[in-house]
Amino acid sequence: MPDFDVDLAHADDETIRAAVAAADIPALLPALAAATGDLALVPPHLQPHPTGMLDPSFGLTPEQHDEARELAVGALCRLRDAEVPHVPVPDLDRLRTLLGWAAGGADVEPYLELLREELGIGDDLRCPQWDAATLAPDRTFRVVVVGAGMSGLAAAHRLRQAGVEVVVVEKNSDVGGTWFENTYPGCRVDVSNLFYSYSFAQRDDWPEHYSSQTVLLDYFRRVADEHELRPLIRFDTEVTAMVFDDATASWRVEVLGPDGAEDVIDADAVVSAVGQLNRPNFPDIPGMDTFAGPSFHSARWDRSVDLAGKKVVVIGTGASAGQFIPAIAEEVGHLTILQRTPGWFIPSPNYTQAIEPAVRWLRREVPGYTHWSRFWTFWRNVEGMMPLATVDPEWDGGERSVSEANDMMRQLLTGYLESEFADRPDLLEKVVPQYPPFSKRFILDDGAWARTLTRDDVDLVTERIAEITPEGVRTADGTLHEADVIIYGTGFRAADFLMPMKVVGRGGRDLHETWGGDARAYLGITLPGFPNLFLLYGPNTNIVVNGSIIYFSECEVHYVLGCVREMLTRGIRAIDPRPEVHDAYNDRIDAENLKMAWGVSSVSSWYKNATGRTAQNWPFSLLEYWQQTRDPNLDDYELL
Ligand code: NAP
Repeated sequence: MPDFDVDLAHADDETIRAAVAAADIPALLPALAAATGDLALVPPHLQPHPTGMLDPSFGLTPEQHDEARELAVGALCRLRDAEVPHVPVPDLDRLRTLLGWAAGGADVEPYLELLREELGIGDDLRCPQWDAATLAPDRTFRVVVVGAGMSGLAAAHRLRQAGVEVVVVEKNSDVGGTWFENTYPGCRVDVSNLFYSYSFAQRDDWPEHYSSQTVLLDYFRRVADEHELRPLIRFDTEVTAMVFDDATASWRVEVLGPDGAEDVIDADAVVSAVGQLNRPNFPDIPGMDTFAGPSFHSARWDRSVDLAGKKVVVIGTGASAGQFIPAIAEEVGHLTILQRTPGWFIPSPNYTQAIEPAVRWLRREVPGYTHWSRFWTFWRNVEGMMPLATVDPEWDGGERSVSEANDMMRQLLTGYLESEFADRPDLLEKVVPQYPPFSKRFILDDGAWARTLTRDDVDLVTERIAEITPEGVRTADGTLHEADVIIYGTGFRAADFLMPMKVVGRGGRDLHETWGGDARAYLGITLPGFPNLFLLYGPNTNIVVNGSIIYFSECEVHYVLGCVREMLTRGIRAIDPRPEVHDAYNDRIDAENLKMAWGVSSVSSWYKNATGRTAQNWPFSLLEYWQQTRDPNLDDYELL
């Protein structure tokens, strides 16, 4: 029997063999080659083909898999027996070779620095290599960070590393942001935690492939503790307004603390890390306030309401509802799901599963395996999917697909729904989307959606909602769907960036009036007329297919640090992006979004604002965002 409780030094051959059988070869072989310095472990004929997440064998035959596993077993035994030295960090040339191999021979040169940062083997390469006190000994530069969620913690950590004075203002009583607020049953991340984690705080002991909310909240709490960020944070305190003072070129941040205490914090710069998906969106349905029973939004789950045995009506079938509906179906007496638009579901068998003991052992015991798995996850799932979402102007797919590749994806996903709902043609008709894949967020599924919808005590209703009455929800066909409880899975006011804060920039201009409901920013980060206001997860920095939003936040934070460094070095008080640079950038974003499925599809989604513009999504590659946020070009700015 394999024993996954032992360490590598005490593992027998059977344990090693069993662990290798569960490994991702494209991560394991480079990890071993890096650890042993033996490049024979990555032979060209065993090179994977990272053809995207759709090919589980990454282009290798069973014989090649066997050969690769034998190589790995041999290398691990040699490492165990200390027959080879352990090389902690491979040099750049070796790294280049290994990354190129794992990337299937693709040209990794443009990605090299990015991948070194993301891998995080050895040094934390994103740690700022400068110090505020050295650059500007006579100047105190204070930054107020608004929000202690995922982005705010990253900003606070890096700014503090650079010796910049930081005050974090957090409206909640703890860190975690969205993972603090969304406590609904079934809540979990839909990006592998290998990638949905900070490069500077990778974990080799994630309990699940896609962690549940409690695990993630614990992760962010631990990051705050381990990096001693809590002393920087003013909890239970909300920023109500921030006003730029033209005379001093600094910000006056007005806050409302616990017990209603008002205060003002002066700041040289403000970093807004308030997120996009946190203000619940309630639909405007006649009679909503007449409902006699309890009702609540998924992001404000009311645990005082006992759902056991109750008639529950859920409005919405997006990513949140796709998680909580299967989680409550068993418990409630009867469930009515009111669906306006069906989602595309991605088959994900391990979505709710714990990490297998063999994989936990590999991550714990094989030097670098976690880091190389992070790289492999990044490479395979990230840029490779973009062509499937890109519009082919020659393609005549109507409202159903935007290119041949997109249509192929549509067929694959339709096939999945057909197999899941094989015995229920009545339901199948309702659950197959009529819009192109990638126009809305995919929902991961391990079969729970079909298991839930085919239950006798669950109804899927696609009639338009007409009104809410004291007894329940009436649809346009006149049917009353009785409810003891109504749950709104109706998403967020994502287009209302920075609401409800009042933000006043140069010359008294109001941010929300300036935006007029159509938020834009330069690189999603800076805004003309609002010097030294930096946004994290701002306009057009959301991603549909390519990876983890933490990656974006780390890029944004890197850029902000670069701006602060330049201001300290050159003695600049504040920087204000040039309107023409901002406008040209946004024109480029808009043009590119119109080449993507989410930009051209008319399906309803939170990716577009009321003007119809895609105000949320980044349409280019991850590499391009990294490149553009590498080093601020101060020619893009007016220097104050
Ligand atoms: P959402 O994707 O915006 O879904 C809202 C749902 O409510 C949709 O089904 C929408 O229908 C429906 N709806 C809205 N207004 C309605 C009305 N007046 N009448 C009937 N139905 C109405 O919101 P979400 O599910 O909360 O997800 C938002 C985003 O949060 C996701 O896209 C994802 O990025 C993120 N998220 C991530 C995770 C995760 O990582 N696991 C989990 C949850 C959320 P239409 O489709 O017709 O508009």
